[in-house]
Amino acid sequence: MAAARSQTDVNRTAILAHLGAHGSASRADLARALEVSPALVTQLTRDLLADGLIEEQEAASSGGRPARLLGLVSHDLAAIGVKVAPDHVAFVEVGIDGVVRRADVQPFDAVSPLAASHLIDTVRRFIEQSGSARVLGIGVGLPGTVAQQGIGVVDSTQLGWVQVPLGEQLRRALHLPVVVENNVNALSAAEQLFGQGRRFRNVLVVTVGNGVGAGLIADGVIVRGRSGGAGDFGHVPVREDGPLCQCGNRGCLEAIIGQGALVNDARSIRLIDPDEGVDELRSLADAGNAEAREIFAHAGHQLGRAMAGAVNLLDPEVVVLLGEGVQAWSHWQDAFDAALRSALVPGKRGVTVEVERWDDDRWAQGAAALVLATPFDAQGVAGDQGRLVRERLVAAMEHRP
Ligand SMILES: [Zn+2]
Repeated sequence: MAAARSQTDVNRTAILAHLGAHGSASRADLARALEVSPALVTQLTRDLLADGLIEEQEAASSGGRPARLLGLVSHDLAAIGVKVAPDHVAFVEVGIDGVVRRADVQPFDAVSPLAASHLIDTVRRFIEQSGSARVLGIGVGLPGTVAQQGIGVVDSTQLGWVQVPLGEQLRRALHLPVVVENNVNALSAAEQLFGQGRRFRNVLVVTVGNGVGAGLIADGVIVRGRSGGAGDFGHVPVREDGPLCQCGNRGCLEAIIGQGALVNDARSIRLIDPDEGVDELRSLADAGNAEAREIFAHAGHQLGRAMAGAVNLLDPEVVVLLGEGVQAWSHWQDAFDAALRSALVPGKRGVTVEVERWDDDRWAQGAAALVLATPFDAQGVAGDQGRLVRERLVAAMEHRP
């Protein structure tokens, strides 16, 4: 009985979250999206209508009979997304419709002995400004490995963290559910909820920027590997005698095409000054400088070859490419396309590559999606924290003013 009851709660919450995340939907849409029977959707939505949590809306359909849509009554629920980087922290408040309502960036020093307490203080300040919105939970995305989202112990060479129990520290201080995840996996969760993952079950998400990373949605599930470390695409070995990588090895993809590597290449030929960076390099390429363009084209070529390897291995329906690096994509593109297509096996040459426009909120938005995704967390990846988010969602909907 208890099991049946909790399954009903999960399905009720899933309906609420789906309507919140995707907007109004018909009963048939809900049954398809949540993979439950139409009869069950009818029963669950009858309860939700009776409780006043959702409402019937009329929408004209293209042919004849109007489709009856269901929509949320209350919209004041939000998730907090936090992106932790070595030198700054970015925050967003995201409604359950997926729309960013507020954003902020604060300086941060990940290697300071006071890093944890500083992070807690800045997260608390951001939440205190949430006004009327009820916060369902906090999602944290960072460059590193997190063995279990719902526990949140972090290993990160970029942050200089070894076994930092960040999830527990935040939970204890803030008394909210906290889910911690590798930031590319967090972006994959956002793709699943709001992006390409809604249309496809096999999606390869690749990020290029300071680091190079990948997230893999396989058969509708984000692949985390044995210890949460799947998707270290940046450390695919490319050149045996290549430059030293942050991981300690030589010639990793990231050490060749990461933004730091491109800047080093440009400085070594005195194309940019020692105090200039990737923005100046991009400006030169935009202005037609051949050496600057060659640096980006070389990166595009290397990425294309490496990505062909990943596509040949994983067979995704679509590759989503995003990250700070795509701001210079026009200079990567031709060499990337040629290298990718020539290294794919014939059966996979039709794979679609979607390059998404990048803005700086995206990492934090991905982190917030970790919280918003928990109602669909059929594998229990978020553990106890997912259950706590679901409880807060149901409680908030039932006790709204
Ligand atoms: Zn490496």
